[in-house]
Amino acid sequence: MWKAFPGVEKRQVVKGIPQEIVDRLADAGGTSGHAEMLLGYDYDSVCTAIDTEIYKRVVFEMLDEAGVLVHVNTLLTGVVKEEGWIKGVTAESHSGHEVIYANAYIDTSGYGDLAAHAGAQFSEPNDYPVANSIGVGGVDVEQYHAFLESNGAVAHYAEGWRSGKERQIVRLQAISKKLPDEFRAGSREIGMASVITTVHDDYFMFVKLNYKMPVSPINRNEAAKAELELRKRQAKAIDLFRKYVPGCEKAFIARSSPSLCIRRGRLVTCDYDITIDDVLNGRHFDDDVMAYGFHDNAPRLQIKDGGTYGIPYRALLPVGLDNLLVAGMLITSNHDAHMSTRNTVCCMGQGQAAGTAAALCADRGCGVRTLPYSYLRTVLEENDVILENDLVGSR
Ligand SMILES: Cc1cc2nc3c(=O)[nH]c(=O)nc-3n(C[C@H](O)[C@H](O)[C@H](O)COP(=O)(O)OP(=O)(O)OC[C@H]3O[C@@H](n4cnc5c(N)ncnc54)[C@H](O)[C@@H]3O)c2cc1C
Repeated sequence: MWKAFPGVEKRQVVKGIPQEIVDRLADAGGTSGHAEMLLGYDYDSVCTAIDTEIYKRVVFEMLDEAGVLVHVNTLLTGVVKEEGWIKGVTAESHSGHEVIYANAYIDTSGYGDLAAHAGAQFSEPNDYPVANSIGVGGVDVEQYHAFLESNGAVAHYAEGWRSGKERQIVRLQAISKKLPDEFRAGSREIGMASVITTVHDDYFMFVKLNYKMPVSPINRNEAAKAELELRKRQAKAIDLFRKYVPGCEKAFIARSSPSLCIRRGRLVTCDYDITIDDVLNGRHFDDDVMAYGFHDNAPRLQIKDGGTYGIPYRALLPVGLDNLLVAGMLITSNHDAHMSTRNTVCCMGQGQAAGTAAALCADRGCGVRTLPYSYLRTVLEENDVILENDLVGSR
């Protein structure tokens, strides 16, 4: 949910499976809900904080209920292909080597391994730092807020559900330059972002340590060096919290990401590349599969008149491949446009679209480009996807 300008009605434009996940998380005590942003992002957006551990269980349960055959600890190693058609993918697991056959495939791996194995055109822009976010336990959210306030350093403030109570602080972002010198300098040295989110009284769920790799994170050896560097930075982050923030004297790492978190791996060339002009001008297309309205750099960059733009179906179709879709951070070459399309909520919407299209293609035995858009659109709308390409002038 996003309201970019005062006077523009706030409305939710991504529902469907993403909202279903948030509803299930709410039932499980794993989200702040769409918490009101009372300070920051022009005062009237929402922040949806989630407990990463509860999320892992809830989405696994949802997959299980939907009858999905889930493979764990399974590495995709290659494809069996006939011209533009992927016949099977090869995989290794504890059960051995196998070929998995399907009529349609989706690559939402961020790294784009499947697309690359299949011969898709791609580049590796390496235009972001990598990270390894941590959950920090043994902290006190109110005292951290008081610490920021005492320095006049509160930039973002959101209230929502936390530890069984409504209207609690669930997101805080600091004005870095107003933080005490030692804390600020230490944070800068380890690339620590000044934002925390939480749904627990004594836990910062999401503390980011950033590191700019010299080459793309696809490079295995450099990725290993980055992992080690980031784990050292995590330890330094804990020292900083313990030393400088009242209420955080017993801070500890409660969880880390199992591996490097990347913001961009491979960029896969698709039939359409969403431009910054499309995003900022709220452009919709005759094959939209979702509408989206948030930009990470708002208010500097935001969608015209507080509106939405569309993700066209063809932006999910890798050039030259007839039964593969991609979704998520893999698309959109322009960095500023990517700062919107790579947002989690946008990726989730794209995921629903790509998954739906792949299922329909598999069912009909057709390629991704011969699937009738009207059919895809009907099924998306039946599943609570909001499309706005008939509301705003399409191309
Ligand atoms: C530190 C950090 C902070 C961020 N903060 C925000 C934020 O506050 N708000 C926001 O909206 N966005 C944020 N983003 C961006 C957002 O998280 C990503 O753009 C988004 O998650 C991308 O989604 P995705 O599905 O493309 O990739 P991912 O979420 O990375 O999912 C890819 C999945 O594929 C799996 N995978 C990869 N390779 C293989 C393989 N070969 N076989 C099987 N599985 C594989 C991975 O394990 C992973 O689970 C942040 C990103 C980072 C790195």
